[in-house]
Amino acid sequence: MTDKTLPPSRDDFAHVTEWVFDLDNTLYPHRVDLFAQIDRNMTTYVADLLNLAPEEARKLQKQYYFDHGTTLAGLMMNHGVDPHHFLDAAHQIDYSPIHADANLSEAIKALPGRKFIFTNGTVRHAEAAARALGILEHFEDIFDIVAADFVPKPAGATYDKFASLNRVETKKAAMFEDLPRNLVVPKALGMKTVLIVPENDGATLERWEVMTEDDDHVDYVTDSLSNFLRALL
Ligand SMILES: [Mg+2]
Repeated sequence: MTDKTLPPSRDDFAHVTEWVFDLDNTLYPHRVDLFAQIDRNMTTYVADLLNLAPEEARKLQKQYYFDHGTTLAGLMMNHGVDPHHFLDAAHQIDYSPIHADANLSEAIKALPGRKFIFTNGTVRHAEAAARALGILEHFEDIFDIVAADFVPKPAGATYDKFASLNRVETKKAAMFEDLPRNLVVPKALGMKTVLIVPENDGATLERWEVMTEDDDHVDYVTDSLSNFLRALL
């Protein structure tokens, strides 16, 4: 049984030329919590659309998320909502909680090969967040929920679409994500998988020091993306 929270071995990543990053809570830290703003916007959207009280709207929003993988999928299926209209409204948020991260920028820039953002959000949202971090210029492409035909990760078809669109050879790729379930398909496709957990969260890190068979899809666990990447340089 290996401790996956130990620093990465360079050799283990020597073959990697495709670097794939989730956006939210991966490229910027969990504590920034942009999702709280997006979540509130979605509740307002559902309330306005269906003329519901906020608590009713919230219940339905979460039900759709649970039943369909995203609130959007439930709204499209049950109410014929225009996805672009919904996504624009949901992402009207304040990006000022994100600060430029020079260490992260240098580390990403120095990685050998191509870098991608692969998000269940939108290109516009990813651009705004990456611009605030000062890392946008390092990415070859942003693959978003629109490119995924509104089928979010962890659906296998969406990873296939990402890989074929960008001609990513998955056996030469590494994927960075904050949601363990989104690393299952990447691992099966031969990618190195790195789970990002909240900083200074001893309990979460400890939980990953003792792995079970259920965790086989996670190769490494870190609470600092930039420290992890720098260890590879
Ligand atoms: Mg995320």
